[in-house]
Amino acid sequence: MPLDRFGREIDYLRISLTDHCNLRCVYCMPLEGITYAPSEDLLQPAEIERVAAAAAAVGFRRVRLTGGEPTLRRDIVEIVARIASVEGIADIAMTTNGLRLPELGRPLVAAGLRRVNLHIDSLHPERLPQVMRWATLAAVHAGIAAAEDAGLSPIKINSVMTRGHNEEDAVDLAALTLARPWHVRFIELMPLGGGECAQLSRERLVPTAETRARIEAALGRLTPVPAMHPSDEARLFKLAGAAGIVGFISPVSEPFCGTCNRMRLTADGRFHLCLLHDDELDVRAALRRGADCEEIGGILLRAVGAKPTGHALAEGVEPLQRWMHHVGG
Ligand code: SAM
Ligand code: SF4
Repeated sequence: MPLDRFGREIDYLRISLTDHCNLRCVYCMPLEGITYAPSEDLLQPAEIERVAAAAAAVGFRRVRLTGGEPTLRRDIVEIVARIASVEGIADIAMTTNGLRLPELGRPLVAAGLRRVNLHIDSLHPERLPQVMRWATLAAVHAGIAAAEDAGLSPIKINSVMTRGHNEEDAVDLAALTLARPWHVRFIELMPLGGGECAQLSRERLVPTAETRARIEAALGRLTPVPAMHPSDEARLFKLAGAAGIVGFISPVSEPFCGTCNRMRLTADGRFHLCLLHDDELDVRAALRRGADCEEIGGILLRAVGAKPTGHALAEGVEPLQRWMHHVGG
């Protein structure tokens, strides 16, 4: 397994498939002025498979597909099938807003997808579209139902708390775990990408401690439960008698760089060394001039070797240049 210079075992590749999205969440994509990578720059299914094979050859074991919205790729089922065919990749998961799962859930499972992290910021029919612009609560619910029907398990749900929009909804969202075996994970806002979204993310951060206190005041004590995986970025808890798990992902108030095990591949073919730094290493040029598995693996190992650690979000550092929907969340 590849080790970086801080001794971290890096075996998890997050592949962004597109910077496009069918939603415009307030903290992620502005309504106007978005720039996209030219479509000819996006990695094609066979190129993604070559990177996955090279990653497996140097010791990577898990892949997550993300974006933007990964299900907008017309070739999404082929991409999953190609990655699933790579020997050594033991687990393929996807982070998605779920809106396209009613059509795609079963074909994706048949192609080899194992798990999804879905995204719901509110259970309130009017507040949800204020945060997840262009979504409806009914469409989001249909996505979760489709994921369950298709056999994707466990269902993990990401909720980003945004002050003035949905911080009160943490209680209803956490209460979902009482009856269902879902993991509901509350994520702190990160100021990515510059512009209005980064500004909003700085101004509307709701610290984990506040979300946790709100949930405990309404639903009772959250008891810690052990992490499922040592590099899980979420700290996990249970409500008394609950079927599911409440998680907190706190990149601002409690950075988890020390246990980071991931490398990111952007939709336009660059290894992005850390979500919270702008450093990247191009792999698309090598793919397109016919580099073999060993050379691609060598670029990936160089990226692992250069991975940084630490960030200063809590001190209000300048936002990053790359947007979340470009890098892959
Ligand atoms: N479109 C898919 C989705 O929404 O799940 C996948 C990509 S999205 C960038 C992945 C996750 O990042 C979502 O749970 C989203 O809420 C979260 N996210 C987006 N912008 C964020 C920000 N500025 N800070 C924290 N989380 C953010
Ligand atoms: Fe799209 Fe996901 Fe960003 Fe929302 S968080 S705009 S669903 S990429």
